[in-house]
Amino acid sequence: MGEFELIERYFTWARLPASAASDFGPATSVELGIGDDCALLAPDGRAEIAVSTDLLIAGRHFFEDVDPEALGHKSLAVNLSDLAAMGARPRAFTLGLALPKVDVFWLEGFSRGLARIARDHGCDLIGGDTTRGPLAIAITIFGDVPRGAAIRRSGAAPGDDVWVSGTLGAPALAVRILQGALADPDEQLTQARVVLERPIPRVALGLSLRGTASAMIDLSDGLLGDLGHVLKQSGVGAKINVDALPGSPLLKRAAPGVWLSCVLTGGDDYELCFTAPASKRSDVQQQGERTGTSLTRVGEIVAGHAMSFHDGQGHAYVFPEGLVLTGYDHFG
Ligand code: ADP
Ligand code: MG
Repeated sequence: MGEFELIERYFTWARLPASAASDFGPATSVELGIGDDCALLAPDGRAEIAVSTDLLIAGRHFFEDVDPEALGHKSLAVNLSDLAAMGARPRAFTLGLALPKVDVFWLEGFSRGLARIARDHGCDLIGGDTTRGPLAIAITIFGDVPRGAAIRRSGAAPGDDVWVSGTLGAPALAVRILQGALADPDEQLTQARVVLERPIPRVALGLSLRGTASAMIDLSDGLLGDLGHVLKQSGVGAKINVDALPGSPLLKRAAPGVWLSCVLTGGDDYELCFTAPASKRSDVQQQGERTGTSLTRVGEIVAGHAMSFHDGQGHAYVFPEGLVLTGYDHFG
């Protein structure tokens, strides 16, 4: 059973009936539950609160000896990225922390990295829980968005363009080199490692795409799997131009199979993938320029359910023999 089947089978229950407004005042309604980058709660008629949780485990999501300051940064960055994916503005977060021991050097670094990115985004630490245990970090983040303005995974329609921000694949390259699965003759590790350990969440871009993007997701598990979630939730298919994919320049000399698997399935990119009507192309480009983000059109949404791949000439893309590509799945 894969990660997403598990969530669907054991944790996706029929939603409870909305509780009525009472003598104690109006009731908050659940506007969107499991299945998107954030859930949406509507406390009143004007705003929605976007909520998301991410869990980072030593040895699985990060190398145990990673620079604690970078880890503090990344712990919040991955959560900010989920708010960005909804077009929500960061407000506050809680921090669950399991530590094997009190290591003052580690705590100072972690706290510094976390505080810095929190300040940069005006996102307050408002509580949490601390316990002894194997190193793990669980953050729940809260953001807000005007009622009805959040960009969901479910809004893609045939004819829409598919866009990706930034470049893809450098974090996956770093992981492979650090794990010893790939040699590093060009000494790319130092640069690739910065992208892996200090991802920049696309919060400004996410906010600026309200009213322009029809669907959006952040790329945490690789384009293949994450775009797959958008297609499934929207009930559509997509045609992807492999030659247009914005692979990281650090992958320039990688073998084709390595390039494809890093770019399509690598994960940890924390870029935004979104769809928008073709009529909004100049709008999209403007938002990219305004926020200083490079944006690449990589394909189009089509009717059906399949994701298909073609080259720059429109011919079906021929993948190297034996290359198996799947999105990241913790239990896959
Ligand atoms: P993301 O990559 O943005 O964190 P995923 O695609 O991994 O989101 O998760 C799919 C959906 O499943 C999300 O809406 C997430 O909140 C939900 N989810 C994941 N784990 C659980 C769980 N244990 N209980 C309830 N919902 C969960
Ligand atoms: Mg996400």
